[in-house]
Amino acid sequence: MKLTNLHFGATIGIIGGGQLGKMMAQSAQKMGYKVIVLDPDKACPCQYVAHDFINANYNDIDALNELGRRSDVITYEFENISAPQLKELVTKYNIPQGYEAIELLQDRLTEKQTLQQANTQIVPFLRVSSEDELVHAIETLDYPFILKTRFGGYDGKGQILVKDNTFLDEARQLIAQQECVAEQYLQLTQELSLTVTIGNNQSVTFFPLQENEHRQQILFKTVVPARSDKEQEARNEVNKIINQIHFIGTFTVEFFVDQQNNLYVNEIAPRPHNSGHYSIEACDFSQFDTHILAITGQVLPTDITLLKPTIMMNLLGKDLDLLETKFSTMPEWHVHIYGKVDRKPNRKMGHLTVLTNNIEETESMLIKQFEGRNN
Ligand code: ADP
Ligand code: MG
Repeated sequence: MKLTNLHFGATIGIIGGGQLGKMMAQSAQKMGYKVIVLDPDKACPCQYVAHDFINANYNDIDALNELGRRSDVITYEFENISAPQLKELVTKYNIPQGYEAIELLQDRLTEKQTLQQANTQIVPFLRVSSEDELVHAIETLDYPFILKTRFGGYDGKGQILVKDNTFLDEARQLIAQQECVAEQYLQLTQELSLTVTIGNNQSVTFFPLQENEHRQQILFKTVVPARSDKEQEARNEVNKIINQIHFIGTFTVEFFVDQQNNLYVNEIAPRPHNSGHYSIEACDFSQFDTHILAITGQVLPTDITLLKPTIMMNLLGKDLDLLETKFSTMPEWHVHIYGKVDRKPNRKMGHLTVLTNNIEETESMLIKQFEGRNN
C-alpha cells in the first residue's frame, strides 16, 4: 500500500484523547504536525496538548465526519470504536490503518479465530454464550479456566478465573451480560510483548522484546531487553500475523510463556501499547514517533536502537504518593503524568522509566518502592 506523504503543517486527527492519544500528539507536534482530538471527556489527557478538540462521543458520526473533514489523516488510540462507522469513514477520508484490524481484534472470538488462521500458537479456547457451551467448556478445558467477555475488556476487566464449580454462579452472571470466550488457564513463567510498526510498502520495524509483569491483571512493570530467548520466535509469530491482517502504524502483540517454555500469542493491541512506553526515553525512536511516521507516509527507521537497558513502572492512583515522597530524590526517574482528573487506586495515572546499567539492582529498588502500595 502506498501511503499519502504528509508534510509538517498537516493535521492529524486522533480518535480518543487518553494517555496514548496524548503521547501520539506529542510526537506529532515535535515533527510539526497539528493535532485535533475527538473525545467525550473535555478533561481528558489530550486537552493539554491538542491544537483543537472535538468534544463528542466516539460513535457520534457527525463529529467523526467533522474530524475527517478537518484532518489530513485520521488515527485512533484505542480499539473500541465502532467498526462499521470506521468502515464508512475509510471510504471518505485518509485512514491508513483501515477498519479491518479494529473489526477483527475488538472481538476476542474473531481475534482468536484470526490468530488460528494465521497459524500462530494460542491458548486453547471455546466460545461460551449459553449454559450448554459453559458445560462443554468445563468438560473440554477443565478447571481452572478464564472466562473473558468478547468485547470491551481491558486491564483484566470483564474476566473471571473459574477455579472450580463454586465460581459458576459468577460465570453465569458474566455470560448473561455478554457472550464470552473460555480460555485454558496457564501457569505462566513469563509474559512478553513485541511492539512493531508497519509503514509504507509494508516495511516492518521491530522494537526490542519486552518482558512484562502484571499485578491484578494490570501491567505493573516492563523490562527491556526481555530476559528471554524468545525474540526470534516472537518475531516469527508477528510476521504470521502481519501476513493475515492489514496493519499500518504501531501495534503490539502480547505473549505468554508457560512452564514447558512454550510461547503463546495472547492478544493484539492495534495501537501503541503500555508496554512500549519505555521507548520514549530508552530508544532512538519511540513507538509513538514511528506510529506518526507510518501514518504520515514517511520512511520508517529499519532498526530501533535500545540506548540502555530499561524498566518502566506504571503509576496507578495508589502509587502517586511515591512521587510526593521520592521523586525529588530520584533524578534518574523519567516521570510521565497523564493529567487525568479522577485519581482512582487502580487507574493508570502515569508511568516512570528508568534507564540503568544494572537491571537487577534497579528492579529490586523499584519493586521495594512500589510494594506496600499494591495490595
Ligand atoms: P486484557 O485485555 O485485560 O489485557 P488479557 O487477556 O491480556 O486481557 O489478560 C490480562 C492478564 O491476565 C494477562 O496479561 C495475564 O497476566 C492474565 N491472563 C490472561 N489470560 C490468561 C491465561 N489464559 N492464563 C494465565 N493468565 C492469564
Ligand atoms: Mg492484555
